[in-house]
Parts: sequence; C-alpha cells; structure tokens
Amino acid sequence: MAKYVYSFGGGKAEGNSKMKELLGGKGANLAEMAGMGIPVPPGFTITTEVCTYFNQNKRRYPARLEADIKKAMARTEKVMAAKFGDPAKPLLVSVRSGARISMPGMMETVLNIGLTEKTAQGMIERTGNARFVWDAYRRLITMYADVVMEKAAGREPAGGLGIRVLMEHEMDKLKKARGVEQDTDLDADDMKALVKTFKGLVRKHLKKSFPDDPWKQLMGGIGAVFHSWDGKRAVSYREIEGIPNDWGTAVNVQAMVFGNTGEGSATGVAFTRNPATGENAFFGEWLPNAQGEDVVAGIRTPLPINKKGKTSDTRHLQSLEEAMPKIYKELDKIQKGLEYHYRDMQDIEFTIEDGKLWMLQTRTGKRTSAAAIRMATEMYKQKWITKDTAVTRVKPEQLDELLHPTVDPSAEKKVTPLAKGLPAGPGGGTGMIYFTADDAEKAAQEGKRVVLVRDETSPEDVHGMRVADAILTAKGGMTSHAALVARGWGKCCIVGCSALNINLKNKVLKVGGKTLKEGDSITLNGTKGIVYEGSLALKEPDLEKDKYYGTLMKLADSVRVLGIRTNADQPQDAARARTFGAKGIGLCRTEHMFFGPDRIMAVREMIVADNQAARRKALAKILPLQRKDFYGILKAMKNLPVTIRLLDPPLHEFLVMEEDETQELAKGLKIPLGALKARIKSLHELNPMLGHRGCRLGIAYPEITEMQARAIAEAAARLTKAGVKVYPEIMIPLVGTAAEFRHQAALVREQVKEVMKKKKVKFAYKVGTMIEIPRAALTADEIGADADFFSFGTNDLTQTTFGYSRDDIGGFLPKYLDQGILPADPFQTIDQSGVGKLVHMGVEKGRKAKPGLKIGICGEHGGEPASIAFCHKLGLDYVSCSPFRVPIARLAAAHAAVNAKSVKKTARKCKK
Ligand code: PEP
Ligand code: MG
Repeated sequence: MAKYVYSFGGGKAEGNSKMKELLGGKGANLAEMAGMGIPVPPGFTITTEVCTYFNQNKRRYPARLEADIKKAMARTEKVMAAKFGDPAKPLLVSVRSGARISMPGMMETVLNIGLTEKTAQGMIERTGNARFVWDAYRRLITMYADVVMEKAAGREPAGGLGIRVLMEHEMDKLKKARGVEQDTDLDADDMKALVKTFKGLVRKHLKKSFPDDPWKQLMGGIGAVFHSWDGKRAVSYREIEGIPNDWGTAVNVQAMVFGNTGEGSATGVAFTRNPATGENAFFGEWLPNAQGEDVVAGIRTPLPINKKGKTSDTRHLQSLEEAMPKIYKELDKIQKGLEYHYRDMQDIEFTIEDGKLWMLQTRTGKRTSAAAIRMATEMYKQKWITKDTAVTRVKPEQLDELLHPTVDPSAEKKVTPLAKGLPAGPGGGTGMIYFTADDAEKAAQEGKRVVLVRDETSPEDVHGMRVADAILTAKGGMTSHAALVARGWGKCCIVGCSALNINLKNKVLKVGGKTLKEGDSITLNGTKGIVYEGSLALKEPDLEKDKYYGTLMKLADSVRVLGIRTNADQPQDAARARTFGAKGIGLCRTEHMFFGPDRIMAVREMIVADNQAARRKALAKILPLQRKDFYGILKAMKNLPVTIRLLDPPLHEFLVMEEDETQELAKGLKIPLGALKARIKSLHELNPMLGHRGCRLGIAYPEITEMQARAIAEAAARLTKAGVKVYPEIMIPLVGTAAEFRHQAALVREQVKEVMKKKKVKFAYKVGTMIEIPRAALTADEIGADADFFSFGTNDLTQTTFGYSRDDIGGFLPKYLDQGILPADPFQTIDQSGVGKLVHMGVEKGRKAKPGLKIGICGEHGGEPASIAFCHKLGLDYVSCSPFRVPIARLAAAHAAVNAKSVKKTARKCKK
C-alpha cells in the first residue's frame, strides 16, 4: 500500500534526502535535517503522488489520506507539546509546496493555519502578546483568502483587484489614519480591527465566510498548494526550465515557529558560501522581530548576518553575529555541518523564536556561473568531491554567462552614477527601460534591448525578466525574487536600489534628480550594483584570466573523450577559438572567403562564365587570393588539423547585385549588359539549396576544385618549407554517391601530388567528405572505403531528412513547438530518433569499410550539449562548433563522458 504521509521532527524522520521524487526537494531535506538531529520544526510531507492523484481525480484525495494526516498531526503535536485547534495550547502549522526541483515563488504557501477566534484567545493568554497574535491572524486571513478562496477557487477578481490588494488598501488606510508608516507601528487593537475588516471583505467579495475551523483551513490549504502546481505561473516556469508537468509537488505541513514574537526573535536567509562570487564565506541576511516573508519580499531592508558580510553601505547595521552571538555560533556550526553533509553550497532559512534557533529549510543554493565554478574547483581541492562531480557541478550552458559582457571600465569612469543598489546578478547590461513585464516583452519582440525596472518583481513578471537584458528593482535584498531568478538565469541584475522613484501610471522614473521615460536608455553594472544613465559600452570578458575557470576546464579536458574543434574561416576567429581551447578546425567554409571586395567580381566572373576558358581566366585571378587565405588559416592553426571544405555556395547568394555592379561586371567581361542579364537569369534556380551546389559544382566544373586544391597545397608547401607543421584535411561537400566522392578526391590528390613534386616538399594531408545527404549515410560503407575521414553536416542532413528548408522553418516551427508536434527545434538540438539514426548508420558503415575511420560533426549541433552527448555515445572523434561555443562544448563533452560512465555502472549493477 502506498504511503502518502511522511513525518519528521523530534530527532527522527521517516524520509531522507534521497527521496526527492516522492517528498519534493524541501520535504526530503527537512527529513534529512531532522534525521541529523538539527532543530527542525516538526511536521509531515504529503507526497507528490497525492498531487498527481488530486489533479487527475477532479480534485479528490485518496480515501486514506485524511486519516493519515490526522495520525501525522498527532505526532507533530507530541513533539511540540501543543494541539492543533486546542484553545489552551494551540499548535499552528504552515502549508508549503515543494517540488523535486525548487520553483521559487511559483506555487502557494499558507502560514498560521489553525488560528481561529478561539485559538487566538488561547494564544494571547499563553504568549501575553496580543499584537503578535492578531497580526498572525490577519496574515492568515489574507493568505487564505487570496490563495485558497480566490486563486484556487478560480475566481477572477473584478478589475484585477484581488482580495489581497483590497486588504492591503484597508491596511494602508488604517496606517494613514494612525499617522504611521510601518506595519510594525500598528498596535494590537489595530490588528484586531483589521481581522474584523478582512473577514468582512471576504464575505462581501468572495461570498463565503473565512472558515473558523482549523481542519477546514488545513485541508483547504493543502488543496490550494496541489492546485497551484497547475497554476499559470508554475506552468510557464516549468516550460522555461524544462520541468515535466507530471512530476507534481509535495506539500509540507510543519509546525509554525515565529520570528516576530519580540526582540528575542528573528528570521533570516543565508548561503553557506557567497552565491555571487563563490567565496567560501558564510553569507546572508536577517531581520529582528520579523517573519520569513519580510526578508524575501523586500518590505524591510535586511541586515548582514555577520561582520564579514558588511559592505561600506551596511557598515553601520548590526549583524546577527553581534546581536545574538550565541545563536550565531550555533547557526554557523549547523551551516558548516549541512554544507559538509551535502558536499555542496546550501541555501538555508532559519527562524529564532524567543531565543531558540529553528532551521526551516536547506537546499542546494542557486549560484552565478562564476560562483559555481569557484565552488566546484575549491571543493574538489578540499577533497570533498571527485573530479567527475566537480565537472558536472557546472552546467555547460552556464559558461555562456561568463562569456557575457561587462561594462567597459573606461566608459564607466567618464560618467557619474545615477544610483546604487545591491549587486544581485553580475555582468553588465544596457537597454531601454520598461516598467511592466508585458511592455518589456513587447519591446523585446520588436528587437529592442530592454532593462526591466520594477519596484520589486514577483513570479508574475518572469516572462518580462526572461527577455530583459538586465533587471533593476527599487526594493528587495540579495535573496529577493528578482535576485534569485536573475542569478539562476545568469542575468545582470540590481535590486534594492532605493533611490528609484517609479511612477508606474505615467511610466516615468525619477532618480538622482533626473526624470527618465519609458524607452530611455540606462546601463547597469550588476557586479557593483551601479546604475548609469544612457547606454555605456560593454566589454567582452577574458575567460583565460579566471583561474577557477582554468582549473575547471583542465578537469573537464582530463575527463572528456571527444575532441573539440572549431568552425572558422578567418585567421582571427581561428586564433580566438584556440584561446578558447579548440584543437583544430573542423570546418572552414571557403565560400565565406569569397565575399571580400577584392575578389567578389572575380568570383561572379567565374560563376557567369559560360565556357571553360572564361572560367579558368577568372579562377586564375582567385588562385593567389585563396592561397593567401589558406596560408593564413593554416598558420593560425599550426600543429593542428584544419578541415578545409571545397566550395559549397548556393550560387544565387553571389549574384544578388545592384544595377551598377551588374554594369561593372558586364564591362569587365566585355559583354553586353543584356547578355549578362540573360546569363544570370539562366542560372536562376527554383530550389537553390537542392540545386547546383556542393560537389555538383566541382564535378560540372573540375577546374574550380583544381584551383582550390592547388591553393591549399601551395600554402601548405610554403608553410612546411618554413618549418611550420600543418595538417590540411580537404573535405568534399554534399556528396551523395561514392562516385561523386571518388571523382573529386582524385582531382584533389592529383593537384596535391603535383604541388609536392614541384615544390619538392611533403606534408601530411587527408581527403574526406561531409555526410550531409541521407544517401551518403545510407551508403557510407561505399564512400568510406575511399575517404580518409567523415564529417557530419547535420544542418543539411536535418534539412534533407525532414524535408524542412533550413531557411524557411521559421514559418511553421513555433506552431510545431507550441503544439508539441516537434519536441525541439531540430536545427538546434539533433533529432536523435530520425537524423540521429542516419548518423549512427553512417558511423557504423563508415568504420566497417575502414576501421578506425576518423569521424566528426560540424553542423550547428556540434556546440549543443544534448547533441554533444549523443555524439559521445556514437563514438565520434570530435565535435566542431563556433569559437564562442568551444568552452561549452569542452564541458559538455566532459559531462557526456561522466554520464556515460554512470550509465555503465548502473547497467553493471542491474546485470548483477
Ligand atoms: C552542414 O550542412 O551541417 C554544414 C556544416 O554545412 P553548411 O551549414 O555550410 O551547409
Ligand atoms: Mg551543408
């Protein structure tokens, strides 16, 4: 019989941290902490299976659930020595979501459940603190009405004015009447009056009474959390993060402890290491006499947790270390223990209730890429984790963040800052300001660079945050919603910038004596937390100077099996890719060399030539230029292989000319303009991508292949004579039959032989082919017999396997993705079950014909982590990608090797 409810607390737990699928991340970690003897408020977790049942069975629970909850509640009552619903010794509980992977703020929470008119009285008698109790009661009514009675009930409030907003208005009205600013300035009678007002609002607007029955409150709260798994926010977050819909959330019911019972109480959020830099230092924020949500929501500006965490701006504030030294010591010991236990940086929440420390949560903390790299390499050095674990602690895509720009320091020196906030997401960002997520999204769709400016963000803003280049908020701390989300996505972000005065209605921002309108530009330095007016220059990062990055990449290189090359056509790109760690060129597209102003006319002359003599004349002009090109690129990649692909131009791209250019060409060719135009017209193809391109061109006009082969060989000969080691690999494009390959390979070999003989020099070279037409994969054994290497051109292979034009897929792809007809864009991530089968077949057949045949991939997929894992699985020798993706490919290849090892291990275990 399935177990639906798992208890924890009092030094014991039924679950543990390995049960995340069933108990969610939070539940599993609470159980683990309780089992470790850490002071955790007792409670129980209702499993994710109940969520699935609930959402599949018209919001009904499994029959046994309520009885199981009652039993678990009895265990909680015992540990807390209090009773749920008992006026004499009332126990209050919180109800929170907890999915397998943390989805910050995306689902619902209800606190203080169990407070009723009767238990409130009992609590006042027990605590002697009426203000605190009425405050807790009005918070419960607000949350419950909003989450359970409005959102979960599917009510759409009139004019967008939800019950929570109406209640906030009432509270603001009361504060005004009392002449106070802070919630904390309202007294017990005020809070009591608010309870009454709020209950009236519930009856008036929601047409039901707030339930004064603890069990009704509890079951309502549990249902609302399960329901929120399918809420709009959660669904859109899952889409962005790729979290499956069928995972479901667990619900954690836990005894309430209060950080707002007086000056001996407090609450805080902390990280066991600095989540922005990775520095090994306890880092966090706290607030005396406050509830947890006050820290995260940014209502009050939090204080630094310790002396080390103070900055010049927070020097005057009292840290927890100074205010409550004994408790700080206990907390520090627990955080150290938790980090060591999990061997990873933890994000923890705690509450101090009347001098007693309670740990509310621990989870693996989100971090910037720079921090992830530093932590992984330092923990490896500490011998806490293995090399394989260290490498997999950083997602390949995270490196993207390090490749992102920062504000150019010299540009920054020349301007005065507009305002300063907290540096929540490092890097630089610039763009036009927009004040709502919807406006930001619209502007981004119009191609604008956007900075989203808000008082504070909420999960409702994620679509706007997603498209923004940078995010700026007036409120909130380093653990606010904006900070967490931005950090998770590697976005530049500044929070708590209190100098901002945002007028949402008029869409203007007043700051530092200036008034900025929607659409005006600003620049953010997210590393320092500084805001500037206007658009400042951004600077590319220098990865190689980052020592932690260097260490991580060294580890990755020692783990990976796949080689990494780059796609580059220019010496400077090749040089950059080398500094990023590329070990050769996997694709040099020679047609990209043909657009230069010094040669485009000669190339056009070659294309429009209608006889061999005319073509040879044009080619003679191009030969010395190509020789220089190849000399440059082979030299930039000395000692490493360079795959040079012979001409593969969709010819139409070269013949797009202005009238004056056509006239110039006609003059140069000494033919009438009309005749040239007629020739161009005759070259027009209906389907140029499937037309006269690739090796078809070299077969129809062998002199083109000869010229290129000669230019490569002459460049290689010159470099070899100069003592430079070069390894040219000449590649024939768009081959579909073995005869095509043999035809072109023979021409190439003949030219190279001739050059070697003439120049009296020898160098190693190869002649291979692209596999980018399905027929080439199907007959790879025939082609492989003669080829020195294969390189999969998965761009064309995807195009020709699906029959989707790679240039026109944009017309229907979004609809295909929306409707789930395609799981992903097949031009970005390889379609393993279709195109992948052809790759698999190509590898098998090719290596059958020629054991040990060298095989790589040079389509766009060569830089995409999931496709790289697939290439590893198929036993390719290397992947080749654009220079900026080389670091990502190196790390992705290491991940692929580590994951393949663990798959093998599991398979061995299963066999046993
Ligand atoms: C390919 O088709 O995958 C390829 C690398 O060649 P191109 O993109 O130049 O057609
Ligand atoms: Mg191609």
